Amino acid sequence: MSLKKVSVECRGVGLSYGKTEVLRDVSILVEPGEFFALLGPSGSGKSTLLRLIAGFNVANRGQVLIDGKDVSGIPAHLRNVGMVFQNYALWPHMSVYDNVAFGLVERRLPKDEIRARTTAALERVGLAQFGQRRPGQLSGGQQQRVAVARTIVIEPQVLLLDEPLSNLDKKLRVTMREELRSLQRDLGITTLFVTHDQEEAMTTADRMAVLDHGIVQQVGSPVGMYDYPENPFVAGFVGTANTLPGRIAEAGADTLTVEVDGIGPIRIAAQPGLQAAGAVQLTFRPHTVHLDADGVGESAAYLWMDGEVAASEFLGEFVRYRIRARGHELSVDRPHFSGGEPRAVGAAVRVGIDPSQLRCLRA
Ligand code: ADP
Repeated sequence: MSLKKVSVECRGVGLSYGKTEVLRDVSILVEPGEFFALLGPSGSGKSTLLRLIAGFNVANRGQVLIDGKDVSGIPAHLRNVGMVFQNYALWPHMSVYDNVAFGLVERRLPKDEIRARTTAALERVGLAQFGQRRPGQLSGGQQQRVAVARTIVIEPQVLLLDEPLSNLDKKLRVTMREELRSLQRDLGITTLFVTHDQEEAMTTADRMAVLDHGIVQQVGSPVGMYDYPENPFVAGFVGTANTLPGRIAEAGADTLTVEVDGIGPIRIAAQPGLQAAGAVQLTFRPHTVHLDADGVGESAAYLWMDGEVAASEFLGEFVRYRIRARGHELSVDRPHFSGGEPRAVGAAVRVGIDPSQLRCLRA
C-alpha cells in the first residue's frame, strides 16, 4: 500500500455541548506521517477532538484541515479517515474475514480486489489463520488487531485511534503498543492516538499534545515535554514532578534567582519569558535528587539540605521516598540493587538538589 502522507490541522477549534465548552480554541498541526498522541485526563476533550477530525462531531468555531484542505463541511464517510474505536465495534455475528472486508463490500469493489485486500490486511496484523472465527472466539489483543485491519483495509489517509489499548491488560498493552507503532511506521500513515496514559503517549508518539479542560496546554516531543514542561499542569501530568513554591528575586541575563519558601535563594540558568515579579515554582524530577552523597559526594554544585524519610515505596527497579526537608515534602527515586535495604521511615538523610535539573514555571 503506498499512500500520500497528509497533514492534519485544527485551527482555532471550539466546541460546546449546551453551555459546556468542551474544546476551546484548539490549534494543532500534525505533520504528514506522524504518530501523534492526544494526551490528557478523562474528560479533557480528547475523544471529542478525535471525533471532530473523523467528522462525527461538528465544531462551533474553527476549521479542520486534512492535507491543507478544509474538511469542516465534508461528512465522515467522504473524509478518507479511518477510526479504531475503544470497544473495537466489531460485528459479533460476522466472521473476522467479513468484519475486515465490510468496508470494501460497502464500497462495491470487485470481488477479487476485496479478497486480495482483506487477505493482505489480515496478514499484516498476523491474523491470516483466523478469518473464519467470530470476534468472540478471539483474545482481546486479537480483536484489537481485527479492528485495526478493518480500518487499514480501506486505505485511509489518516488513522484515528481512540484509547485503543485501554481494554487490554498491562502486559498486552505493552506488546500491542509496539505492534501499533511498527504497523504505523510500515504504513507511514498519519496517526492520531487518544490516551489518558502518559507512559503510553511517551513510549509511542513522535509528538504529543497535552489537553486539559479542552485547552491545549503544550505540544512537543515526549522528551521535550518531560524535560521542559511549560506549566505546572504539564509538569505534573507528564511524569512525576516535585515543586518548590517561591518568587523570582532576580532575573539576570544568564541566571535566574528564585527565593524559595523555607529554603532561600536558588540560582538556576536564565529562562526566557520570566519577569522578575510574580509567584513561580521550581519543578524537578524525583530521580534527579541525590540522597546522602550517593555516588556524587557532597558536590558543591548541588543544594544540600537535611531531611527525614517520611515514607518509602519499593518498586523493584527503584525506591520512591517521600523526604521531608525544610517544610517541603519531596519525592526522591533511588535505584535499587539486590542486597540494598531501603532507608527506614524516620531515618535522617541529606538531600541534594541539582540546579541544572530545575525548571522555573509560573505558579
Ligand atoms: P476525554 O476523551 O478526554 O475523556 P471527552 O471528549 O469524551 O473527554 O469529553 C469531554 C467532555 O465533554 C466531558 O465533560 C464529557 O462529559 C462531555 N461530552 C462528551 N460528549 C458529550 C455529548 N455528546 N453531550 C454532552 N457532553 C458531552
